[in-house]
Amino acid sequence: MRKVSIFGATGSIGQSTLDLIGRNPDAYAVEVLTGAQNITQLAQDARRFNAKLAVTSEAAMLPALRDALSGSGIEVAAGAGAIAEAATRPTDWVMSAIVGVAGLMPGLHAIRQGATLALANKETLVAAGPLVMAEAADAGAVILPVDSEHSAVFQALTGEDIDTVERVVITASGGAFRDATLEQMAAATPEQAATHPNWAMGQRITVDSASMFNKALEMIEAREFFGVAPEQIEVVIHPESLIHALVGFTDGALMAHVGPPDMRHAIGYALHWPARQHVPVQRLDLVAMGQMTFRAADAQRYPALRLARQVMATGGYAGAVFNAAKERALDLFLARNIGFLDMATRVEAVLTQMDAAGSLRGGAITLDGVLAADAEARARVAAM
Ligand code: NAD
Ligand code: MG
Repeated sequence: MRKVSIFGATGSIGQSTLDLIGRNPDAYAVEVLTGAQNITQLAQDARRFNAKLAVTSEAAMLPALRDALSGSGIEVAAGAGAIAEAATRPTDWVMSAIVGVAGLMPGLHAIRQGATLALANKETLVAAGPLVMAEAADAGAVILPVDSEHSAVFQALTGEDIDTVERVVITASGGAFRDATLEQMAAATPEQAATHPNWAMGQRITVDSASMFNKALEMIEAREFFGVAPEQIEVVIHPESLIHALVGFTDGALMAHVGPPDMRHAIGYALHWPARQHVPVQRLDLVAMGQMTFRAADAQRYPALRLARQVMATGGYAGAVFNAAKERALDLFLARNIGFLDMATRVEAVLTQMDAAGSLRGGAITLDGVLAADAEARARVAAM
């Protein structure tokens, strides 16, 4: 039996992961499940999968979790420290599906113990990519991408020489405001931004899809994961969300990954890797699909894409600052304190301020440096 732990088990990716594991329960021993507020779901899954340990990130929820699991023999814990500690528990495969930079420390602990890390939490690579990749190399830990675009690139690269890659094209659905005017975007509510035309995902990534901050994070994620140069990374809007990414090679070939918009494909690929096994996603009917369309991503409507290029050119702590500023700006938008387009304005202003203060560039990044840059960026966004 393979030991598996799922961080962010109660979320969209976590639940899809448990769906796959639940279809083949004899193959897996569930070690750790973590969640935040949704104690009912966490406890229900911990019992169903007979987890050894269930952890909530919310310290105040510990009594509720203890009650919900009383008599089960399942260990309980609470708080960010307990989540990080849980990632040091021996396991073979870890799903990193916490949302936000809160996923960084558990992912690092999983890497340090040499577990295979299935990485949905793109924030890990945006905030601390060079450090995380170096730690994985030192520990001999494998990181497998779960973001659909990066899973697609990874699959297209299998058996290929990375030096023969000319370009990596990641697709974007365009999100909720694909066909909206700038005026409509300026007035958008959190409810409007949190609807997605193709994918069912957590609230935060859905809003990030509408602003293209999600695609901006993914450009940086692609650079960190595959080591390709920023100018090799392209974004194209593909409203049908059927091609997830394409890799172009020196001979002009473009290898595309085509599949339905169902995260269980990318999760299953990372779960079964290096083998392929049956995954219960819809099989595409090409004739019924009829056509696939593409259009350019308008830089004016999506400043996040321009900022991603700026962040990649700057390096250092720019990724940590970009991610943290975005997370805090998103909090403010969801709380109706700022408008939809103000998110990018604030993120850009914080990058400019902190670069001018000399806080972004210089030398290799450290974990303490990442956490300090993250905290400073959040404070600056809130103080504007
Ligand atoms: P979600 O909001 O549905 O779930 C987030 C999970 O993290 C929940 O289990 C929640 O309890 C937990 N959590 C929230 N705040 C936490 C904190 N401070 N500390 C510890 N745990 C906390 O999010 P999601 O859509 O499943 O996304 C998870 C990650 O996967 C994100 O990084 C996202 O960008 C990435 N991702 C998601 C999708 C998707 O289809 N949902 C696709 C690609 C990548
Ligand atoms: Mg994605």
